[in-house]
Amino acid sequence: MNSKNKGFNTICTHVGEIEDKQFKGAISPIYLSTSYAFEDVDIKRYPRYFNTPNQEALCKKIAQLEKGEASLIFGSGMAAISTALLAFLQKGDHIVLQRTLYGGTANLVNEEFSKYGIEYSFVDNQDVNGFEEKIKENTKVIYIETPSNPLLTITDIKAISVLAKKKGIVTMIDNTFASPVNQNPIELGIDVVIHSATKYLGGHSDILAGAVVSSEENMEQIFHLAKNLGGSLSDFTVWMLERSIKTLGLRVKQQNKNAKKMAKWLEKHDDIQAVYYPGLKSHPDYQLAKSQMKGFGGMLSFELKEGLDASKFQKELRLIKSSMSLAGVESTILSPTLTSHALLTEEERKHQGINNGLLRFSVGIEETEDLIIDIEQALHKIKILELEQ
Ligand SMILES: *Cc1c(COP(=O)(O)O)cnc(C)c1O
Repeated sequence: MNSKNKGFNTICTHVGEIEDKQFKGAISPIYLSTSYAFEDVDIKRYPRYFNTPNQEALCKKIAQLEKGEASLIFGSGMAAISTALLAFLQKGDHIVLQRTLYGGTANLVNEEFSKYGIEYSFVDNQDVNGFEEKIKENTKVIYIETPSNPLLTITDIKAISVLAKKKGIVTMIDNTFASPVNQNPIELGIDVVIHSATKYLGGHSDILAGAVVSSEENMEQIFHLAKNLGGSLSDFTVWMLERSIKTLGLRVKQQNKNAKKMAKWLEKHDDIQAVYYPGLKSHPDYQLAKSQMKGFGGMLSFELKEGLDASKFQKELRLIKSSMSLAGVESTILSPTLTSHALLTEEERKHQGINNGLLRFSVGIEETEDLIIDIEQALHKIKILELEQ
């Protein structure tokens, strides 16, 4: 099944499926061959050429989910990001990026780009003027990430794409936190959409993968570099990712609902200092989020009241697990200061609004009543510990 304009969950379940002609099985067979006979001179199938049966099939599904013409799947989110960026940048070019970025992306730019003679500027002020101010003669790419990690700030996707189009600059977005369920940036004028499929697309904390979606023409340019860099995904994992995406809509809609409930509950709680969730009316970017997102996502952050120790609190949680990663069906929590943003200096973290007591909460699909009980018991325990001291 391949036709356009199917509903979201139908695309998730069926688009790109490989028909099992031999046994009429219900799911796509998996083809693990790394060697295929030539079909003709033009089609040479090889996993690193991103064209095995399972890769091609899954790319159709992911492209349709993001309303793009074509897509490629990579061995990790960072393989997708680095390949997409380097496909559009060369020596002497300049890129403008927002400052609040996934740590790995920031490291790629800060640690590698000078080596290749690529200039870069980070934008502090995330409104469109902030981006415009940084654009130079040689600016080739604008790169954004919204909602951002860990404070869930929102960047105006449409304003950025209008600005970039005027100047002939390619726009890229890391759409990982929103997932295609909540945000389709191509509809808002963005050229290249990137996902760490390790997160919501995979959704079960057992797959490392990445994806890029764009026009046929852009994907051709990305493919040319991709086959040389060699960051393709193994077909077994491709097949697992296909299986996972079947429930993408169901999972993320439940996570949206749970995160909103938890954010509202936390916001009213006496022991909580601040809650950062774009679906809360108190979030400074609430209106913007509402205008460009279909749901507000499953990620939120919060700070405990002063005097309550965030790392002790984390240790007392029983159901909610401490975890580096995010977006699985299970709820997880981490301290950005100690993990994802540990490489930044205290000053840089302050500059980005990341306080030491901040906790990033990836809300799963569990019953919110159970998540609330878990948080309450952990708060209760750390308060008793404080009293005993
Ligand atoms: C995890 C993540 C990445 C990197 O993906 P990997 O699959 O770990 O390489 C990029 N962007 C965001 C927003 C992420 O959360």
